[in-house]
Amino acid sequence: INILAIESSCDETSASIISDGKILNNIVATQSVHEKYGGVVPELASRAHQQHLIPVIHEAIESSGLKKEDLSAVGFTRGPGLMGSLMVGVSFAKSFAYSLGIPLIDVNHMQAHILAHFIDDPKPSFPFICLTVSGGHTQLVLVKDYLEMEVIGETLDDAVGEAFDKTAKLLGLPYPGGPMIDKYAKEGNPGAYKFPLSEMPGLNYSFSGIKTAVLYFLRDQLKVNSSFIDENMVDICASVQHTLIKMLMQKLKRAAREYKVKDIAIAGGVSANSGLRSELGNLAKELSWKVYIPKFEYCTDNAAMIAMAAHYKYLKGEFCGLDVSPMAKMKLGK
Ligand code: ATP
Ligand code: FE
Ligand code: MG
Repeated sequence: INILAIESSCDETSASIISDGKILNNIVATQSVHEKYGGVVPELASRAHQQHLIPVIHEAIESSGLKKEDLSAVGFTRGPGLMGSLMVGVSFAKSFAYSLGIPLIDVNHMQAHILAHFIDDPKPSFPFICLTVSGGHTQLVLVKDYLEMEVIGETLDDAVGEAFDKTAKLLGLPYPGGPMIDKYAKEGNPGAYKFPLSEMPGLNYSFSGIKTAVLYFLRDQLKVNSSFIDENMVDICASVQHTLIKMLMQKLKRAAREYKVKDIAIAGGVSANSGLRSELGNLAKELSWKVYIPKFEYCTDNAAMIAMAAHYKYLKGEFCGLDVSPMAKMKLGK
């Protein structure tokens, strides 16, 4: 079974080939047009997908050593994501599958982020809890099987990646600011400044309060000392990062306790954060968890994870028709 998978939900155009469950390649074209706008511009994203898609797919097929006639199915991201971006991938997948006379497999992007854990060893065992932390999502998911997942908690407003990026913007750092905060935080004191931890009911999160808290904090400090940010950058970054990680870990610990699960996975772009990784390492020792973090290449948006999801859906015969349409707000689970 050879499946071509396509990812185009946001600002990464990607294609991957999976052969009998083994990922052969993962070609990613990152869009740089958005940098100067400080965020993804949807209209520019869909145009860039149109430019990148065919070369990326061509490279994936070429480098796999297969011919397009060898393909058994085409998998693609149906949602969630930006409507215009999704549209490019979905339309291509449909026409390509139709022209080859092979089935189509629609994939949920958030489910795929979790299935990225099955690309390499070691693999988590079921049931496990996955904390998905990205620019658009923050979810606690109980993973019962490859295709059986339940969202047990999520953010009620901003995603944690957004909180990193928006705070970074207040500090005058370039987009995306998450990696910059991480870099400065390494040299700072995480206890230097205190920011409130928002307490949401159950296993839910809220990350919109922290950017307001940081905004007011900076405004007050800058009144007294106009170079406050420059002089204290590392301490501010360390304190903000510490607060965000503490919020993430509180609910993750509670979820693990409530569901009696010790296999813990993280997914999404924010799982690159070194503070988060080391805190998970500490908790693994303290609570005898087994912690799983995918390779960075498979944490951010990529088609290999879409291919993995398509593979499991192929095995269960879960295909979709040519009338399928993209779904910007596609939900995970039932
Ligand atoms: P989604 O997958 O929810 O649609 P997305 O595609 O924007 O959203 P990703 O590409 O998975 O999300 O992740 C991007 C986010 O990860 C950005 O918010 C970025 O700042 C953040 N990020 C990347 N590296 C780090 C890091 N080292 N520390 C903190 N945040 C980081
Ligand atoms: Fe993503
Ligand atoms: Mg992205």
